[in-house]
Amino acid sequence: MTGFTTTAAASGNQAAVRCYYAGDPVLRPHCALTAEIRAGRVALCGSCAAARSTLGKGTITAPLPPGPALDVLDWIAEADAAARQARRDLAAAVTRARSRGCTWTQIAGRLGITRQAAWQRFGQDPPPAAARSPRTERTPS
Ligand SMILES: [Zn+2]
Repeated sequence: MTGFTTTAAASGNQAAVRCYYAGDPVLRPHCALTAEIRAGRVALCGSCAAARSTLGKGTITAPLPPGPALDVLDWIAEADAAARQARRDLAAAVTRARSRGCTWTQIAGRLGITRQAAWQRFGQDPPPAAARSPRTERTPS
C-alpha cells in the first residue's frame, strides 16, 4: 500500500497518480490533479505542494517518476463504478441485517434516516423461505 491514489490511464499500463487534494475542488481550486511529488505518504501536484502549510513544508519531499496526466473522464468512470459497488454493498448489508432480525429502526439509525425512509429505500424484503418453497402436505398420522 503506497497511500497514493491512482487512476488507470485509458491506454497503457501506467497509472496516473492523483494529487491528494484533487478531490477537494473547493479547498484547492488550482490543483493540477496529477501528483508530481510525494511528501511522506501524501502525493501532491506542484500547485498544492506550493500551497503547503509551514508544518507541511517541514516534510521531506521526493519527486515522483514521470507518468501520465490524470484523465478526469477516467476518474468519473472509476468514481461511478465505485459508487455503484457501494450501493450494491449497502443493499446487501441491509438484506443481511434484515435476514438476521435487525429492525428497520436499527438500520435507519445507522443510516441517519427515519425508519420509514429506510423501508422505502430498501424495503422489498424477499418473502420468507417457507412461503417461497412449495408447501408440503402432511398426512396426519
Ligand atoms: Zn493538487
